[in-house]
Amino acid sequence: MKKIGVLAVQGAVREHVRMLNQITDVQGLAVKYETELDEIDGLIIPGGESTAIGRLLRDFDLLDPLKEKIQKGLPVWGTCAGMILLAKKLVNDDTSHLGVMDIEVARNGYGRQLGSFETVVNVPEVAVEDMKLTFIRAPYVNSAGSEVRILLKVDDRIVACRQNNMLATAFHPELTEDLAWHRYFVRMVRGH
Ligand code: GLN
Repeated sequence: MKKIGVLAVQGAVREHVRMLNQITDVQGLAVKYETELDEIDGLIIPGGESTAIGRLLRDFDLLDPLKEKIQKGLPVWGTCAGMILLAKKLVNDDTSHLGVMDIEVARNGYGRQLGSFETVVNVPEVAVEDMKLTFIRAPYVNSAGSEVRILLKVDDRIVACRQNNMLATAFHPELTEDLAWHRYFVRMVRGH
């Protein structure tokens, strides 16, 4: 049994837990205390509001312990706001949060007009079948370091990428019925 935590300070927590619990031999659980970080095999940082999540992580004294865990190899997956939290650098912004992944991310990269949209893609490494992706006020990756492997581009923008134990996606698989990305992350956790 693999235990996968979902960082539960703000955002789409329950949706991820529900997805994880549909996968065999995986237990999804909401985590918000430092001690709970020792009990999990992987962590999802959900979508929500990155500024709020970042502030709460600091308020709860979780930012540094979590950063250290990730740097020591804890498999982590940031979706949407979670991708922003992982980034080393943000476009037009001097702040960064966990700053562990060698990517520069544009927040609300699609502007207000195209705030939310869906698209269908095929990512062979993740699933044989096509997948429908849901973007909500999504960020995208503006540039990525050489250690970062690009998994998916949509309209020439990087929306999914991986760097060793870290996965970042700009969209929200937890708002679909498709378990493909959660299964992919579980494979990362099992391979760790
Ligand atoms: N736009 C949000 C932010 O900047 C992210 C949106 C989301 O997670 N759906 O944090």
